[in-house]
Amino acid sequence: MPDDSPSAADGGRPLRVAVVGAGPAGIYTAEALTRRAPVPVTVDLIDRLPTPFGLVRHGIAPDHLKMRAIRETLHRALDDPGVRFVGNVEVGTDITLEDLRAHVDAVVYTYGAALDRPLSIDGEDLTGSLAATDLVAWYCGHPDADRARVEAALAGVRRAVVVGVGNVALDVARVLARTPEELEPTDMPQHVLDGLAAKRVEEVTVLGRRGPAQASFTTKELDELAELADATVLVDPADLPGEDEPPPADRLVARNVDVLREYATHTAEPGRTRVRLRFYRRPVRLLGADRVTGLEVERTTVDAEGRAVGTGEYEVLPTDLVVRSVGYRGQGLPGLPVDQRSGTVPNEDGRVLRDGAPSAGEYVAGWIKRGPTGVVGTNKHDARETVAALLADAEAGVIAPHGDRDDLVQTLRARGAEPVLLEDWRAIDAAEVALGATRGRARTTMHERESLLAAVRAAAGR
Ligand code: NAP
Repeated sequence: MPDDSPSAADGGRPLRVAVVGAGPAGIYTAEALTRRAPVPVTVDLIDRLPTPFGLVRHGIAPDHLKMRAIRETLHRALDDPGVRFVGNVEVGTDITLEDLRAHVDAVVYTYGAALDRPLSIDGEDLTGSLAATDLVAWYCGHPDADRARVEAALAGVRRAVVVGVGNVALDVARVLARTPEELEPTDMPQHVLDGLAAKRVEEVTVLGRRGPAQASFTTKELDELAELADATVLVDPADLPGEDEPPPADRLVARNVDVLREYATHTAEPGRTRVRLRFYRRPVRLLGADRVTGLEVERTTVDAEGRAVGTGEYEVLPTDLVVRSVGYRGQGLPGLPVDQRSGTVPNEDGRVLRDGAPSAGEYVAGWIKRGPTGVVGTNKHDARETVAALLADAEAGVIAPHGDRDDLVQTLRARGAEPVLLEDWRAIDAAEVALGATRGRARTTMHERESLLAAVRAAAGR
């Protein structure tokens, strides 16, 4: 990376920033730093995976082809000469946070919120009980997916319950209800396509603990369920506000209720998968001896504060699979604190707080800053806020440019790490396209870290 242009930061070289996490938040941060700063900035965009794009690659549902195409736009920031992608490097393992901080003038943490939230009810450990994060990691080909656990859970599934009524719950329900023909144009790994083609899901229930007015899915995603080729969406009219009640004041809620009313007119059709959206039921426990056979739920009402209140009426939903889709949470890095309750790094406008005070040269953006909310584009504004704080600190002299340090990549290599740079990622990209072509697909995601690295080594002649 060029390191000789003049800088207002220390009069001799660009401001050096490491961004930890090459998902949308990290990429938008790198873009804002290189394009908006009044001083030259160079960015090392570090990721523990050999691939960039974070949740755009391993989170956005593979059947959302248009949404996933945002990686083409994100790639422009990776191509900027001021940005260096440094994949396959885990902060805390390949390099300590302390060491990294000594190499650069500032660090921005953008590594997201990868952990699932448990329901903390009995039976959650049974085979057939999964976190949405497990299933999503598997169907997106994340190298750390627990393939054995997910495939054991999916074996022989006829009925599934997805707990939670957010957009991730709808992603999971959709993918479970899709036909093999609908999934073929995706970039899912081949074993995932084959696994999903082998299942015979007859019914997927999406379960809200409160009412339709409190659901967090968005209308576009709700509407999209109607397009499923071989599934009928069903809603119990009893779960909807009465026709004589005033329409919901919130426009988004009103639009959702309109779509749900339309679904409530549907009837089950023989031979088609049923996607049931049910409300006012909260999970109590998963039933089964060694694998899930049912989910016990309690009926609820919603009180004046919008909280779910149990009615003391219970029912059992027979099911072979329970996927909890109740949100994500972030974790700390070794040496970086996280608030256990919110699952975010304590911060003020993106400045990391240690013991309640801003820590010079440390910033956060994305889900690890604000929690798991918003769409991909939300991270652009979020990253800009953080970068504004960083640049203000540079201007004010709060960030002290360190003396000359060895190049980060050379240091990592000297320590036995195998950083994956942009040209290496291009080799992976080409290998995935070539793998897809062997089956007439546009791309097939390679899901094993070793295969990804093998593609890099083959291209480099190593
Ligand atoms: P989310 O929108 O926060 O939804 C979580 C759901 O889990 C809520 O319905 C919540 O209900 C429920 N829940 C939480 N704890 C529960 C419990 N103990 N028992 C039963 N239900 C429980 O989270 P998400 O679906 O994981 O999505 C994360 C973010 O990614 C969101 O901003 C989402 O819009 C975004 N996303 C967007 C897309 C897209 O644009 N297509 C796709 C996927 C994700 P309560 O409200 O009652 O707590």
